[in-house]
Amino acid sequence: MKKNTRQLYFVLSILLFISCSEKEPQWTELFNGKDLSGWTANEHSESFKVEGGLLVANGPISHLFYTGDFKKGVFHNFELKAMVKTEPNSNSGIVFHTQEQPYGPLLRGYEVQINNSYERPGDFQELKKTGSIYGIRNIYYNTVNDGEWFELSFKVVENRCEVFVNGTKVVDYIQPDEPYRPKNDKLKVFSTGRIALQSHDEQSKVYFKSIQVKPLPKAEKSEMPVSKEWDDKVTKMMFENFPLIDFHVHLKGGLTIAQACENSVKLGINYGIAPNCGLKFPVTDDASLAAYMDTVKSQPIFRGMQAEGREWVTLFSPEAVAKFDYVFTDGMTWTDHKGRRMRLWIKEEAFVDDEQKFMDELVGKIESVLSQEPVDIHVNPTFLPAVIADKYEELWTDARIDRFVKVLADNNVALEINARYKLPSEKILRKAKEAGVKFSFGTNNTGADLGTIDYCFEIKEKLGLTYKDMFMPKKHTEKPVLVKGLPAKITG
Ligand SMILES: [Zn+2]
Repeated sequence: MKKNTRQLYFVLSILLFISCSEKEPQWTELFNGKDLSGWTANEHSESFKVEGGLLVANGPISHLFYTGDFKKGVFHNFELKAMVKTEPNSNSGIVFHTQEQPYGPLLRGYEVQINNSYERPGDFQELKKTGSIYGIRNIYYNTVNDGEWFELSFKVVENRCEVFVNGTKVVDYIQPDEPYRPKNDKLKVFSTGRIALQSHDEQSKVYFKSIQVKPLPKAEKSEMPVSKEWDDKVTKMMFENFPLIDFHVHLKGGLTIAQACENSVKLGINYGIAPNCGLKFPVTDDASLAAYMDTVKSQPIFRGMQAEGREWVTLFSPEAVAKFDYVFTDGMTWTDHKGRRMRLWIKEEAFVDDEQKFMDELVGKIESVLSQEPVDIHVNPTFLPAVIADKYEELWTDARIDRFVKVLADNNVALEINARYKLPSEKILRKAKEAGVKFSFGTNNTGADLGTIDYCFEIKEKLGLTYKDMFMPKKHTEKPVLVKGLPAKITG
């Protein structure tokens, strides 16, 4: 290399170094691993301590504010990443854009939730899991387990916050100019402010190994990917703790998990993705089930199983089935008294010789399926073949509705409110609600477009459904397949 060229390279590399160090802010550790210097607790300062190099939140409700030297502890645009571990039944969170407050839950700013198994005692059931922006964009599925270190990180830029658990995006919230907020939550908006850790209660114990922050420069606001009307509707449900979950999504029409997850964070709807499982389906035994599980293991979704045909109970072990978060089946595939195997949604395979006899046989089949098969949700409910679909109100008599609702209630099976078919009718859903049946939202998409579950929203309003009316996947040991077991075959 010539001397001049060498000098030029030298100057260029210096310039490059300067411009990089200006543009690329560095990570700064806020917790020194020894003590709580740089941090200030409000009431119950005993709720925070350092044990074995870890910052522990455990004790009566309190918040620990970062009040150290770095940026004077006030942040606008920034990234934060923390290494976190929870004990069972623990609740905590990292609040940002907040300010000191003498006691109680913080009124200002957003809380990024930490909760892998917490169940609040008493009447209110806490459904929001790790990674939720609490009450704004909730996620209801588990991404991590108690006792495991995980990275919780988030990036805040002007009116947008993206949340990641172990690097997987679970929330992407863009705040509109005048967001919907209940009266007491008006300060839950983006601004500039402190970072605080939450100690939730005596029972909760959460460890922090590292809490790093990287300030980011001012930037343009992000544009809303959805309408203001949609954002208001979703946010209202989030504040209500309402599980906005579509449990009936299929990877059909070229839809990939990545696309579904992108749609999920855009709309604020959690998805349960289900393969079809049964004879002559891709998931047909324990081995193919395990292979499928590997493909969805760390995805930000619920894992559902659509049980197909009546033979499915003979193809899998209960332990394998219990790897799914929930199991659902419908009453659309069965063999009639003349031995004809029917698929009710296919014109050529739906045989209705006598409408009344067909209906009685249909209700009988649903009764035998739901009383014998260990399923969580009955989907595509009350569907009738095209040839009699226009007589739905007439053929679903009160007596038949009562039998249908009874078998759901007796077997603790939830009823899907199906967005695609707009089923069941409001009348049937009302009767089910009176009987204490739980509901789930479901699309049962045939193509890549998942839509916006409008019929589910409509019914929620009409029936005044709250989160207490809604199905949530059961704890592992309480899953129907482990409680009831699998019958050798279905009779009736
Ligand atoms: Zn389906």
